[in-house]
Amino acid sequence: MSGPETPVPRPEQALAELIEGNHRFVTGTPSHPNQDAGHRAAVADEQHPFAVIVGCSDSRLAAEIIFDRGLGDLFVVRTAGHTTGPEVLGSVEYAVTVLRAPLVVVLGHDSCGAVRAARESLDTGTQPPGHLGAVVDAVLPSLRRAAAEGVDDLDRIIDLHIAQTVEALLDNSAVLAAEVEAGRCGVVGMSYRLAAGEVRQVAGVLPAVAGSDPTAG
Ligand SMILES: [Zn+2]
Repeated sequence: MSGPETPVPRPEQALAELIEGNHRFVTGTPSHPNQDAGHRAAVADEQHPFAVIVGCSDSRLAAEIIFDRGLGDLFVVRTAGHTTGPEVLGSVEYAVTVLRAPLVVVLGHDSCGAVRAARESLDTGTQPPGHLGAVVDAVLPSLRRAAAEGVDDLDRIIDLHIAQTVEALLDNSAVLAAEVEAGRCGVVGMSYRLAAGEVRQVAGVLPAVAGSDPTAG
């Protein structure tokens, strides 16, 4: 769905495409779309990804594999703990305004090392060495929010961090917020389970469409 003549899908269509691909991956029936030499040549001149993935860098969270997609489909930005510094925001803004991607997905996962490191830092009052501190600092607001809400379970903290990342994208990128406001783009948060391979929507906003529930899932 990423050829040059293909119209830009609606946000909810893009989301459905991702969920269908993840279902194929989970059930062991991937179709590996858009990974052949012909498609490689077809998308060489221009790209029209239908989704932006702002995901954790975790090596088990490879977007094209877990959503069963191929070349030209996904614009992927990954940092440990899916933090959203200026370069991440700029990359997302490029994808939604220049490339016209209709959907942004924050992709977190259970057993996230970045969240665990931030929790250890908060618990012990120590700062990790080098630039790791920047990752921890970026995750800390989610941990403080979890503490304020009485959330202690690591997986629930991770879901909260995913929701917090969705909010951070919208709060810190006026460009993205305007795209959502105009109904051109949706932003959702998904939590991935490493063992099961399954994604679950935990947060987000999709532009309203008649006859659909944008918060379903
Ligand atoms: Zn992680």
